Amino acid sequence: MVKARKIPQRMCVGCREMKNKKELIRVVRSPEGEIALDLTGKKAGRGAYICPNLECLNQAVKGKRLQKALEHDIPAEVLASITKQIEAIPES
Ligand SMILES: [Zn+2]
Repeated sequence: MVKARKIPQRMCVGCREMKNKKELIRVVRSPEGEIALDLTGKKAGRGAYICPNLECLNQAVKGKRLQKALEHDIPAEVLASITKQIEAIPES
């Protein structure tokens, strides 16, 4: 039996799998309406979690789940910037 451990879990809005919060990256919409990756996990605002890979990002955006989670559309330039940042994350 697996011991119950207090690891916070979040759902990726791309593949919809529950994962440890640490393995996911947060996309946040700030109170000012700016959407960006939150690599520190500490930015204020409405957040959504996603696996750090482009497949999940694409699924999340195509399925409109990221937009729904943030209650906002993702502007093309924001998506381009998020894509670049995810590409820069080394695969573990
Ligand atoms: Zn995922």
